[in-house]
Amino acid sequence: MTRDLIDDRLIGALHLRAMDRSAFANDSELSHTAFQVGTLNALMDGHFGGDATVGELLAHGDLGIGTIQHLDGEMIIVDGVAHVVDGSGNVHSVTNDVRTPFAVVCRFDPVAHTELSGPHDLAALHQHLDDLAPRHLSVLAIRVTGEFSDLRLRSVHGQRHPYPSLTEVTKHQTEWAVNSATGTVVGFRFPDAVAGVDVPGHHYHFISDDRTVGGHVLDITLLDGVAQVDGGDDLHVELPADVSLGDPSLADRAAIKAAEGG
Ligand SMILES: [Zn+2]
Repeated sequence: MTRDLIDDRLIGALHLRAMDRSAFANDSELSHTAFQVGTLNALMDGHFGGDATVGELLAHGDLGIGTIQHLDGEMIIVDGVAHVVDGSGNVHSVTNDVRTPFAVVCRFDPVAHTELSGPHDLAALHQHLDDLAPRHLSVLAIRVTGEFSDLRLRSVHGQRHPYPSLTEVTKHQTEWAVNSATGTVVGFRFPDAVAGVDVPGHHYHFISDDRTVGGHVLDITLLDGVAQVDGGDDLHVELPADVSLGDPSLADRAAIKAAEGG
């Protein structure tokens, strides 16, 4: 119903459509479209509760990244299965009833792929994925499987009311180094024009094939693997009742970089 549609914008080439939870639940599942719950700005401001569930998120995609209620770790979705890496670095599966304040998924249908033989550091990996991406796509979904080394990963511990800001939480984030791992990097690349709605630039999470290691990627080197990208110009965002889309041009990019850089 159109009254559920609360914001519909064109930002550069990106078509951004924001809606409430019921409209999101009924939103059709489309290829080459990113579906998001919450906004980064709301997460920065300590909205760690969320209203949509992981089950509702998974109905719109099988590949993605985000967090879960109370900011209780870094979530990664691969092949339709959600895992969370908690603040101690432990990897758990996530049940469908868990809520998420911020996550983005897509029905991964790669438009391009390439084999990469490294070593490629994180900057080189960004460049290879940018080169692989068709020029016209504004939102890019990324999946890289293979052998990795020199991983620096982070997660955060769950928070209690009253929630602090994300910047405050990430000052106390847990980081760990992993020498080598076989696994999957999942990520997105968003244009700067949607800063605050999501993280501008590349944002990756990692999970090992044996599901014992994972987290938000601060640094990584690809030794050998396959990179795939999907993408499009459509981003559908579910907004909890107390969250607004905001004005991306006003986003605090330095704070975003400090909290979500990697
Ligand atoms: Zn992250």
